[in-house]
Amino acid sequence: MKMKQRPIPSINLSRLIREGGSATAKDEIWDYIALPNERIPLVGPAVWRVSVAKMEGEGGLDFWLSGEIAGNALMECRRCLAPTPAAVRAHFQYLLRYQSGLAHLEAIEENEEEILLFGHPDLDLEPLLSEAFALELPYTVLCKEDCKGLCPVCGANLNEVDCGHQAKTHSRLEAELSKLLDGLKD
Ligand SMILES: [Zn+2]
Ligand SMILES: [Zn+2]
Repeated sequence: MKMKQRPIPSINLSRLIREGGSATAKDEIWDYIALPNERIPLVGPAVWRVSVAKMEGEGGLDFWLSGEIAGNALMECRRCLAPTPAAVRAHFQYLLRYQSGLAHLEAIEENEEEILLFGHPDLDLEPLLSEAFALELPYTVLCKEDCKGLCPVCGANLNEVDCGHQAKTHSRLEAELSKLLDGLKD
């Protein structure tokens, strides 16, 4: 494994903290979406953009962040396990509050609203982008609508070969039944 420095998606809010107004940032994430315990592999780049606006208020350090991320996650076909890209597009919004010195993002609740506290003007967007992306992942994917899946007897990919088992194991009734079960998984 070569160690390539992975750029951290971020937006600098120094000017907003000082003067107010709004800021935007956009970029691409390559290879994978990083979650705390997992990586979601990508096909091509995931494109994101984020805008942040300072909110008028007493404290003066609240911000409204909204953004979008879109890309293709690499998943496995639920029938034949072939690598299959799944289009993902996610929108997200957060209420942020600057609290100088805080090392990590921290979520608090105030008046039944979730507020994310951040402690550095260079706001790390990775956790926000990753979570939004992961939430929009489809539960399962199919490589194609009529994927024939794997042979239950020998494991052959029935899209590619006809191993001969299928005729015996798949009566019409069974075919209907498996279609029904597939439908229930959606
Ligand atoms: Zn398939
Ligand atoms: Zn077979």
